[in-house]
Amino acid sequence: MRILVMSDIHANYTALEAVLKDAGAVDETWCLGDLVGYGPDPNAVVEEIREIKNLTCLMGNHDVGVIGKMSLDTFNGEAKRSLIYHEQVLSASNMDFIKSLPSNVKVRGEASIVHGSPRDPVWEYILNAMTASLNFDYFDTPWCFVGHTHLPSMFIRDEEQTRILVSPTQPDTIVQLRPKMILNPGSVGQPRDRDPRASYAIYDTEARTWTPKRVTYNIPEVQERIRAAKLPEKHAIRIAEGW
Ligand code: ZN
Repeated sequence: MRILVMSDIHANYTALEAVLKDAGAVDETWCLGDLVGYGPDPNAVVEEIREIKNLTCLMGNHDVGVIGKMSLDTFNGEAKRSLIYHEQVLSASNMDFIKSLPSNVKVRGEASIVHGSPRDPVWEYILNAMTASLNFDYFDTPWCFVGHTHLPSMFIRDEEQTRILVSPTQPDTIVQLRPKMILNPGSVGQPRDRDPRASYAIYDTEARTWTPKRVTYNIPEVQERIRAAKLPEKHAIRIAEGW
C-alpha cells in the first residue's frame, strides 16, 4: 500500500491542496493532527479532510484547544488569537468532526501513529535523542510516525539499544525502514525547518520505505487571507520563511 502521511496542516488550505495533488493516488491517508491553529482556513481544511477516503485522522494539541477541552491560556498569545478566531468561525459539523478525532496512539500494520509522542500522545515534542530514547519503549510496532514538531526528521535506535541516531530527512531521499524508528513527516501548513514548502511523506508498506516530500504552494495567497482575517502578522511572515 502507498500511504500519504501528513501532519500539522494548521488551517492552511492552499498548502493542503498542493500536498493532496502532489501525492497523487494513495491507498490510505494518515493525518497526525493539528488541522486548525495559526492559519486562515479552518473550515476549508476540515471539509477537505472529511472528503478523503480511507482516512485515519488524529487529534493534535491545537484541535484539543479549539474544542474547548483545555484552556487556551496553554497556548502563546498569537497561537491563542488564531484559536479564538477558529472557535468562532468553525461550523457546527466541522467542530463535531474535530471532537470525534481520537487522541491516543493508533496501530496500523507495522506502524504506530500519534500526534506528539507514544508516551504523551498530544503534547510531547520529540526533538532530540533524549526524548526519542524515552519513547522507543512505548510502542511495539517496528516504527512510529509522529507530528507536532513541524520538522521532517527521523530517530533510529540501534539493535544494541545503546545509541539513538537523530537526523533531519531530505526531500525525495528514500529511507529504508527497519526496527526501531520514529519518523516525522514535517508540517503541511507551517514548516519550521526554514524551508517554506509544504512537507509530507509517502509510506510504502510493502517496500517498507518512507519518502519525504516537499511541494511549493501559493504562499502570498495564504498571507493575504491571514491579514484579511486579522490574524497575527507573525503567522503570515513565518509561513514565507519556514519557521
Ligand atoms: Zn502543530
